[in-house]
Amino acid sequence: MGATPGVSEPIDDTRVAHGPSTSSDQEVDGGAVTGAQFRFAFTAAPVGMLLATAEPGMPNVVVATNHALAQLLGRPSAELVGMSVPDLVNALDADDIAEVLAGVSAGATRRGVWEHRVRRIDGSIAWARLSVALAGDEHGPKQLIGHLEDVTEHRRTQEEQTRHALYDGLTGLANRLLAVDHLRRVLAALRAQPGRVAVLYADLDRFKAVNDTYGRDVGDRVLVEVAARLRANVPHLYLVARLAGDEFLVVCHDIGSDEDLHELVERVRTVLENPVEVRTAAITTTVHVGASIGVSVADDPDTGTDQMLHEAGTAMREAKRLGRHRYQVFDASLGDPATRWLQVERDLRAALAEDRMVLHYQPIVDLASGRIRGVEALLRMIDPVRGLIPPGDFIDVAEESALTYPLGDWVVNEACRQLAVWQAIERPGPALTMAVNVTGRQAAEAARSGSVLTEASTAGIAPRTLFLEVTERTLLGAADEVVADLEALSRAGVGLTIDDFGTGYSSLTYLQRFPVHTLKIDQSFVAGLGVNPRDDAIVAAVIALGAALGLEVVAEGVETVEQQTALQALRCPAAQGYFLGRPMPADDLARLLLAEL
Ligand code: C2E
Ligand code: MG
Ligand code: MG
Repeated sequence: MGATPGVSEPIDDTRVAHGPSTSSDQEVDGGAVTGAQFRFAFTAAPVGMLLATAEPGMPNVVVATNHALAQLLGRPSAELVGMSVPDLVNALDADDIAEVLAGVSAGATRRGVWEHRVRRIDGSIAWARLSVALAGDEHGPKQLIGHLEDVTEHRRTQEEQTRHALYDGLTGLANRLLAVDHLRRVLAALRAQPGRVAVLYADLDRFKAVNDTYGRDVGDRVLVEVAARLRANVPHLYLVARLAGDEFLVVCHDIGSDEDLHELVERVRTVLENPVEVRTAAITTTVHVGASIGVSVADDPDTGTDQMLHEAGTAMREAKRLGRHRYQVFDASLGDPATRWLQVERDLRAALAEDRMVLHYQPIVDLASGRIRGVEALLRMIDPVRGLIPPGDFIDVAEESALTYPLGDWVVNEACRQLAVWQAIERPGPALTMAVNVTGRQAAEAARSGSVLTEASTAGIAPRTLFLEVTERTLLGAADEVVADLEALSRAGVGLTIDDFGTGYSSLTYLQRFPVHTLKIDQSFVAGLGVNPRDDAIVAAVIALGAALGLEVVAEGVETVEQQTALQALRCPAAQGYFLGRPMPADDLARLLLAEL
């Protein structure tokens, strides 16, 4: 059975879904069948039958139909007579059908068989298989005889089978097969359009524990929620797949700079860090899974999909090894972490010596007035080849190596110098403030040596406009003399900010032990505002805590107007985040400050 030219859906005629096997090869043979027999067969046939005109002047007009056709189309037979055959099918297929009918009518092809959509009178769409042939002899006018079978169910089964083969039944995400195929295509597309492809390989950190503690049912719900968060937080055209178990993959076909990549991965990592609330018939609970993410980037169209997956997997395992809840970009030294360490240290040393470290500044906005009240200095390294490298790629090495002091000094020095420049702009209201990230060790050292105060006075800024940001993690286990040093620093005016507040351990003891000035609500809680009632409650509690203890509170990671409004409603004093302003070069921030005058 040959497909007719111009028909979009050639049919394998061995797959007849319904009714007795009515071969469309069978011709109406006037010699063997009487008129009465034909009428009987036509009327009683279990498939839809129709006769239509085949004259060039007035083609395709239905002249007779049977009951089965009326049923298939959901219209009375009488209504069908007089209609044009292409009008019976869905508009999308009407042109194809008309073309094929013309071919059959003109005798160019003897028979046509194809599947198309038909529009039922109730508006629903069914799939039908139409076979048509030219009937009649040389004496009378020829007519088209067609039979139409409902193959909707058959097609649904086929589509279902395709879904099973390519999609994960639990989460509805693409499965490994589809993901690998997609990756192969986007790599090949680099030939025509050069660029960079990245894959994110995420493995949940505590999934096994969740499964073991609460059972498969809860585990499944967590996976479904993780899938939804991934989908919602990566660009629409990126493919998100579930590879197996608790492993997910995102294929990014057009990743931009390293910074774009960093932002994307950080967003993904952060949303997976948010607790998942699970309600089943048996249990309501909140679980924290979090993920370690490995990233592989390629710009060569000849890169193999296996290689990329292998690299991303290696980077993911490295992220796990380095303490989970983080991400790692693959590079050649990753097979051996010691090599990475040395490499990064060498890069950092060179960058410091060659003046290739740079600070970007993110505005911290007063939520009541909408004005910039301060900025946070965020460190980047400029790589001659890779461009701007985010701190996530090197800060762990910097903090643990001998470079931590020279680098920390450079940051404080540069930030103070810059702040003095901006403070010289005459703005109404309190002086602009600067927040600098330091490790607990650095803060203690700076306090002991008094270097921060020296920097501040050299630059000509008031110490009370300078803030040191430390995470609870780096204060963990600080010795008593460190506390004393920090207190001295605080008396001199330099403020201490607890960064990522709420993500560390026993947070409240720090508030007693250290001279804390500001709490920064971690972005993972802000991300859950209005989405997760627990996050609403945590954010409200931190704001209340700040108010009760006379501490400043800054919310981090505000990405939407809804989050900003929610924070305003909770009377949060200040916030920062992409919605209010991304970290930016000093010149851009200066423009923002001038625009506020
Ligand atoms: P952090 O101090 O908590 O800084 C906030 C991080 O969140 C920054 O990442 C910032 O770019 C990012 N961010 C800001 N707004 C948003 C938002 O709306 N959504 C999301 N998803 N992210 C947002 P960055 O610059 O990559 O810095 C990462 C971390 O590296 C910092 O976290 C800080 O702990 C550390 N760091 C940065 N600069 C320095 C430094 O000079 N010294 C030290 N020791 N650590 C630094
Ligand atoms: Mg910070
Ligand atoms: Mg933070």
